[in-house]
Order: sequence, then structure tokens, then C-alpha cells
Amino acid sequence: MTNFSRRRFIKQTGIVSTAFFLPLRFNPFFKEKEMMNKKHVEVIIVGGSYSGLAAAMALGRALRKVLVIDSKKPCNRQTPYSHNFLTQDGKTPTEISELAKQQVSSYNTIEFFDGIVTKASKADNFFEVQTASGNVVYANKLIFATGIKDVMPDIKGFSECWGISVLHCPYCHGYEVKSEITGVLGNGEYGFEFSKLISNWTKELTLFTNGKSTLTPEQTKILERHSIRIEEKEVQELEHVHGKLQSIIFNDGTKQSLQAVYSRLPFNQHCTLPEELGCEITVEGYLKADALQRTTIDGVFACGDNVNRMRTVASAVAMGTTAGMTVNKELVEEKFIIERR
Ligand SMILES: Cc1cc2nc3c(=O)[nH]c(=O)nc-3n(C[C@H](O)[C@H](O)[C@H](O)COP(=O)(O)OP(=O)(O)OC[C@H]3O[C@@H](n4cnc5c(N)ncnc54)[C@H](O)[C@@H]3O)c2cc1C
Repeated sequence: MTNFSRRRFIKQTGIVSTAFFLPLRFNPFFKEKEMMNKKHVEVIIVGGSYSGLAAAMALGRALRKVLVIDSKKPCNRQTPYSHNFLTQDGKTPTEISELAKQQVSSYNTIEFFDGIVTKASKADNFFEVQTASGNVVYANKLIFATGIKDVMPDIKGFSECWGISVLHCPYCHGYEVKSEITGVLGNGEYGFEFSKLISNWTKELTLFTNGKSTLTPEQTKILERHSIRIEEKEVQELEHVHGKLQSIIFNDGTKQSLQAVYSRLPFNQHCTLPEELGCEITVEGYLKADALQRTTIDGVFACGDNVNRMRTVASAVAMGTTAGMTVNKELVEEKFIIERR
């Protein structure tokens, strides 16, 4: 949703009654109008998907003044249904986040802003954050719940199938494609380990190494013993209908029918601002955070996919809750220290 005023919205759309009769707490247009430049809140949460909203809920329940800024590009947006999150199994990603946002909105110290944060800097004991639309906001603490961006390989049809029939995780989507003709796209140690895991869901499994196999002779024998085929031909295209895989086409023009393929992709941090603030990054490319979601920079916290390879909604939510609780505890402690002086 773009940022524009309630008055302009009503003028452009003519939707007067709906906008007026929405309860104020749930009315995003009201909240956007309220977000003023140079505002100071206790906590800014950058990223308002599962992890950010979980942090916001913990902080809202702790009566903290919070601003959640979200650019609305969660990594699972192309997947039709989300699984393995208790009480929400089989719901669409949007259904889950909308229900979450509705519940978080009932805490009236939480405000939302749809937009992208483009700058963040630290002064003595507060942070300055700037959005692409030019708003400047200050906060005592910053939480980054900004996720990661998958880097799609140069294979025709791959990105169209991502999250639909090209899958990142069997715990999220394996049950729905159990026993189907399945592939793993990978090579070496990773291809070997991933194939072993996926063989739990289907006996019809091929490891596509997309070029010469780099598995050890021992690994090759183990896969063969478990009837997992290894195909070394280079992959040219994934043939699909609206993201539903039909077959895998090789460079030599031959093809093999296939219903699902698993692949773990390289990734980039969705937001580079934590790094620019000085937060340490692990060798795998995650933000370094401790068990309480504290990064290596004082006052800066991170939660969700950006810190963790256990990529599920459940872990994103768990880490968000922890971040919210930790931030509140720090604010409480700081108040007591100040009062002691
Ligand atoms: C294709 C796919 C399917 C999946 N299916 C499942 C499933 O079935 N079950 C399951 O449990 N998990 C699933 N997952 C994993 C799950 O989606 C993630 O673990 C979860 O979305 C992580 O939540 P998050 O809040 O950390 O990050 P995201 O959900 O990725 O959200 C990050 C948010 O931060 C915002 N943001 C980033 N930078 C900025 C900025 N500078 N300013 C403002 N906002 C910013 C983004 O726009 C986005 O809204 C799937 C993942 C993928 C990729």
C-alpha cells in the first residue's frame, strides 16, 4: 500500500463510509496520518512480517511505544499455502500475517507504517531511521525482522515454480507431495544430505547434480543402495503450468517428468542496514545474534530468517517474541539505572 493521506484516499476512491466507520485502532489510514516526521518512539521494528509482528505483540503487551515499518515483501509470498505452524496449518501466508497484524493492532501503543527503511544511524543513546518517503523517526532500540532474499538460479521456469512445486523445506511442503516423482537439485555434500532427508517422503527420488557429480564414491554407493538415482545432465528448464512442475528439461534436449523438486538457494540479507550499523555477519551470511536476539551492536536486535537457518514461521515467531521481551527488559533496566544516578 502506498503512503497517502486519509483525505486523498477518500477523494480518490470515494470510499467514505468504510474509511470512517473502521475502528480507529484498525484503520491503517489513520495510523499513517498519525506518523509524523521527527517522532520519537521507544522501539522501531523494521520488517512487519511474522517475526516483526511477534516482537511487536510482546512489546505492545509491555505497553511500549512501537513503530513497525514494513515494505510488504515476505519471502514466502509466492507459496499458495503455509504449513507446520500450529493453529494455522494450511492457511495462506497472507491469512496468517493479516490475522497477526489485526491482533497486534489491538495494542494501542503500536503503530504501523507501510514503507521501506533506507537509512539507520546511531547517535549517543538513540537511533535515527529514515524511510524512502523521507520520514525521519527516532527510537531507543531497533529490531530488524527483515528476512532474507533468495537468489534464483539461471534456470528457465525456476522462479515461477518457487514455493509452488520448487520447494525449500520438506517440513513445510513435503507432506503435500509425498510419494510423488521428486527431485533434489544439488551436488556434493549438500546434495547427498538433502537427498537422504527427502527420501523420507518419497521413494521416487532423483538427485539432479546439474553437471558432473561431486559426491564421493561412498556417498554415491549409499544413495544407489537406497534406490536414489543420480542424474548428471545439465538442467536447462523447468517445464510447468502456472508454477506446477511437469518436467525437467536438460541441455541435450531430453526431459524427465517430475512433480516436485527441492532446492536450497544462496541468499542475501533482505536489508543491509544492520551491517551498515556495524552488526557482525556470520560466515553463512546471517546476522550474528545471541539467544536473546541481541546483535553485536548495543541496542540493535535481529530476529527471524535474517539470523537463522531454521527457516519456518514458527521459529521466526519464537525469535520475534524473544526479541520483544529482551528489548522490554533492557528498557526497564535502563530506567532503573538512570533513576539510581
Ligand atoms: C517459498 C517459501 C515457502 C515457505 N513455506 C513455509 C511454510 O509452509 N511453513 C513455514 O513454517 N515456513 C515457510 N517458509 C519460511 C517462512 O516463510 C519464513 O521462515 C518466514 O517468512 C520468516 O519470517 P520473517 O519475519 O523473518 O521474514 P519475512 O517473512 O521474509 O519478512 C521480512 C519482512 O521485512 C520487510 N523488510 C525487509 N527489509 C525492509 C526494510 N528495509 N524496510 C522495511 N521493511 C523491510 C520485508 O518486506 C518483509 O515484509 C517458506 C519460505 C519460502 C521462501
